[in-house]
Amino acid sequence: MEPDVESLPRGGFRCRLCHVTAANKPSLQDHLQGKKHQRLESLRAKRQDQELRSVFVSGFHKGTSAPELSEYFQAFGGVASVVMDKDKGVYAIVELQDQEVMEKVLAQPEHCLGGQRLRVKPREKKEFKYMPPKKQGSAHHVQLSPEKLVQALCQADDVDAQMSQLVQLFELSESERRLRHLLVTLFQEVFSEFFPGCAILPFGSSVNGFDIHGCDLDLFLDLEKTKTFQASAKGLQGAQAEEGAGPDSDSEDSILSDIDLTTATVPEVLELVAAVLRKCVPGVHSVQAVHSARRPVVKFCHKDSGLLGDISINNRLALCNTRFLQLCTEADERVRPLVYVLRYWAKQQALAGNPFGGGPLLNNYALTLLVLFFLQTRSPPALPTLAQLRKLTGDGDQTIVDGWDCSFPQDASRLEPSANTESLCSLLAEFFRVFGDHDFAGCVISLQEGRMLPLPSFLLSEVGAKFKLGPFNVQDPFELSHNVAANVNEKIAQRFQHCCRDGAKYCRSLQYQRKSSKGKAWGLVRLFQPGVPEAGELGPDGLLITIPFTLMALSPGSRQQLCQARDFGRCWFNKVCAAITFVLKDVLKCSCTGPAGEPLGQEPTEQSGGEQPIVGSKHPRSDERGSLVISPAKKRPRVEGPAPEEEESVSWSCAMWHRVWMGRRRVRRQLRHLGSPQPDTEQEAGSLEVEEKVSEAIIQQEGDSMGAEPLLRFTACARVGGGQEDTRTLLYFTPAPQQGSLFQDFYHFLQGFLPRMVERYVGRAA
Ligand code: ATP
Ligand code: MG
Repeated sequence: MEPDVESLPRGGFRCRLCHVTAANKPSLQDHLQGKKHQRLESLRAKRQDQELRSVFVSGFHKGTSAPELSEYFQAFGGVASVVMDKDKGVYAIVELQDQEVMEKVLAQPEHCLGGQRLRVKPREKKEFKYMPPKKQGSAHHVQLSPEKLVQALCQADDVDAQMSQLVQLFELSESERRLRHLLVTLFQEVFSEFFPGCAILPFGSSVNGFDIHGCDLDLFLDLEKTKTFQASAKGLQGAQAEEGAGPDSDSEDSILSDIDLTTATVPEVLELVAAVLRKCVPGVHSVQAVHSARRPVVKFCHKDSGLLGDISINNRLALCNTRFLQLCTEADERVRPLVYVLRYWAKQQALAGNPFGGGPLLNNYALTLLVLFFLQTRSPPALPTLAQLRKLTGDGDQTIVDGWDCSFPQDASRLEPSANTESLCSLLAEFFRVFGDHDFAGCVISLQEGRMLPLPSFLLSEVGAKFKLGPFNVQDPFELSHNVAANVNEKIAQRFQHCCRDGAKYCRSLQYQRKSSKGKAWGLVRLFQPGVPEAGELGPDGLLITIPFTLMALSPGSRQQLCQARDFGRCWFNKVCAAITFVLKDVLKCSCTGPAGEPLGQEPTEQSGGEQPIVGSKHPRSDERGSLVISPAKKRPRVEGPAPEEEESVSWSCAMWHRVWMGRRRVRRQLRHLGSPQPDTEQEAGSLEVEEKVSEAIIQQEGDSMGAEPLLRFTACARVGGGQEDTRTLLYFTPAPQQGSLFQDFYHFLQGFLPRMVERYVGRAA
């Protein structure tokens, strides 16, 4: 059989040279004798022949012309052509008349032109790859307009069809893929000249199955072989020097002679990579080495296509996670549509994205892992965990990278098909439901094990000790001490949850589930409209503020102590309740009472305890005021082990006489001018002490204007969050009747203020 032809597993043939498939032998024969195949065969032969008699030349003065080079090499024999890299003029391919001339050129130890020493090397041998001619304008992708997207989606038959359609609309087109491939080939060619034996390996969304128009081109420059090459060339040179022979011209001439790759630092190598990109890769501009990133990279832009890309040199783990993501897409065809929809949803809600320079948003990689984790935890699971995958790994597939076990089967056919049959439509709704009520801060999402790791035991483990805990904790599937969402801040984490809840609510509606017969927006379309933040979230018991788990506010010592505590959740809850008491009473000067009950654990309230008069209040007119009683209502006896239905709550009954939530920023500024000891210019809120003073000042300014009745009365009731081992504190507010918008204002203020102040108090008390 022809070397270019391969037979396909399901019958038929494929011509690798022309990228053409033929259904049977006769049509294969037609193709092989046809014009296209013949033309490409002869083109390949011509290129290979040219390659065999061409040399790669660099080192000449900038501005040297092709005729000058041609003239120089004509001294050795005929020169067929000179091709310069057009926009930089730093290297040239000189095609000589025949191999004999080339050998003469290469035999000469030194070449000089215009006083410059030239580097002259044989060309790298490459496999010939046919790239069909680019269609006009195909390099630039025309962004899909939102209107067109809505139109296309509304025409689909059901949500599952909408989801599949989204993939088709977003994924890279054939021509975009080809362009990326060409660029990788170009980079490989140029870099091989400077770093012999190196490999340029694409990773990230260009190859992991989650490609989307215009996504960046992530490249890994693998210098392992180059290091070996350099080491052996050095050894050779040493030996030759001892024997009195001249230096080896090849390694001497290389850019590598400027640097020792085994001892060079990452920034040094990156600067070299940046220099090669700037000077030697045609069509590349805006090259910039970014050393500050967790994985330093060289960024660049490709002029013709507008494509942005980056090259890293110490990111081998990313090759593994890229392959893992790809394997997941191959294992289950629902993975891609689900991830595409959620990525787009998260982008529209300003929750995720990869803005340059980081920021607090969830990055696309972390979001994708969240979706994969969700699929691992369905019942029955839709995807295997990494621990399960490791068991399926063949002996040859064992991989350790940077000390982490990255073994998993490379081939999806080794995986057992999943027994999960949920539709895409319901998976999406379930995703929102599950994460709308997920305790992100209180546990670690592990794809390795396909479960949530409870914090106390995780933090005491070796990897846990290095893990950067935050409001959003997603463990990298391989680098287990790395939180891929460590950059996400409290605000984004909370918003993510809100948006999930909104999503879940919408997915229960008929508008989501059924196509509109009246041409209205339905299904996915509504999900992609940026959400209007809800005025207040109504829980079953009133307005809710969720106080997240902020373990990192504690000192390392008290953190450790807490993690070791037998009743970890309860201890944390006590801390938070003590903090709420302090904030309401001491910081906001609100008077709190409640039915008498036992005081909280040992935590409570040295600063806020019992009977202090309320500072700054001139009118202590009610005996309600100034006293605080907390009632742990409905306390049930504890049962063995975690009790999921444990209903423990703490209530405050509160009254406020002053609008301490209004104009705080102005008062803060005034205090600062008066030389307050703790100026706090940038932040929304200052320290606990400053905030106390702010309230006092407001109360003094309001002075006698207050009436006999409090402005506001409300109860607040704190409970531990819903899930098992949940660490969140849910605080429900119930205003007294007919306080309307005044309470709403106060509540809005508290939504931001209270969690922040609680965090500070907990941190201070620690
Ligand atoms: P896109 O570029 O379309 O936003 P991407 O997956 O390529 O998606 P990048 O931010 O370009 O995202 O990252 C490229 C790759 O680098 C990822 O696919 C992943 O393999 C790896 N990566 C990115 N962020 C992290 C991270 N926080 N931790 C570990 N690996 C990461
Ligand atoms: Mg990318």
